[in-house]
Amino acid sequence: MRELELIEQIRRAFTATASQDRAVALGIGDDCAILRPPSGSEMLVTTDFTLENRHFRRDLHSPESVGHRCLARGLSDLASMGAVPMAAFLSLAVPSDLLAKSQGQGWITRFFNGLQKLAKLHSVGLAGGDTAESPANLILADIILLGSAPVGRSMRRSGAKPGDSLYVTGSLGGAAAELGAMLSGPARRTRAASLIGHPHLFPQPRIATGRTLLRRKLATACIDVSDGLSTDLAHLCRASGLAAEVERAAIPLHPLARRLEAGALNAALHGGEDYELLFAAPASVRMPREIAGVPITRIGRFIPKRAKQPLMTLLAPDGSRATLEPQGWEHFSRH
Ligand code: ADP
Ligand code: MG
Repeated sequence: MRELELIEQIRRAFTATASQDRAVALGIGDDCAILRPPSGSEMLVTTDFTLENRHFRRDLHSPESVGHRCLARGLSDLASMGAVPMAAFLSLAVPSDLLAKSQGQGWITRFFNGLQKLAKLHSVGLAGGDTAESPANLILADIILLGSAPVGRSMRRSGAKPGDSLYVTGSLGGAAAELGAMLSGPARRTRAASLIGHPHLFPQPRIATGRTLLRRKLATACIDVSDGLSTDLAHLCRASGLAAEVERAAIPLHPLARRLEAGALNAALHGGEDYELLFAAPASVRMPREIAGVPITRIGRFIPKRAKQPLMTLLAPDGSRATLEPQGWEHFSRH
């Protein structure tokens, strides 16, 4: 019964979003949702787990932040391939006490508020899901995002060519810096009044930037920075069969990371969850300084992969070279 009440609450909250959405012909309420990808497009699908104590902590993250981050991860995957979001599906397992308090301003309501705010920002409807009582006292959420892109045009990890420049959107290290501050400060839930300036709690997926990169054919390969620059660049290199050189001084540091002083570079290189886009483009392309309001910075280039040469090299301003090892952390619980 409680599940049914909750589903009804979700349906009411999301009907407005979904019905304005041309991609969702039928949303929450039937056995299946019906989606209509635009003609000439193909569908892209990504799924992401959000697990309590692995991806978030109830004593550290506000429910709004958990809802936001849950959707942001999937949106960022769509952004990295240049897709336009069509619909989200959410499977949710909730401890019975939270299910009982799902009305009013309970945890679940606030979780959905956070999710919905970001969904509205990107005009993506929640078109379905599943709800169950969690067998443990843990919140588990699995989100599925569907997007569309013109057939054959999605940006993959594998398209970079030798000599291509390496670019990043926005700035790096902010999410790791904010999380570090949250973990070292007194345990308190941050109820951010504004979504801006909270790269860990409220990351902003680069949907519009990714879409423009695809539409204007600016990038040859792209990935989102979810595990950290060093790890995600290694993915781009391996998929494209190339090596890369990164200019240390060119890496744009988030203001929160800069405050770490000596730790700033580490946060930018290895701190995950910045959800910026890392992409390759031919050196001949005149890259705009900003795309969809997001700064674009050239931080290095791709070179042929040679035996016994490192996959990734960090170039210091004095010209010295150091091997860059993939060290991005992948899960919250490692901290
Ligand atoms: P069924 O038993 O046929 O799967 P449900 O009672 O589980 O139906 O779900 C009814 C409707 O509510 C479906 O459209 C389903 O997609 C939607 N729904 C259930 N849980 C969620 C959720 N957590 N988020 C979004 N939609 C949900
Ligand atoms: Mg069901």
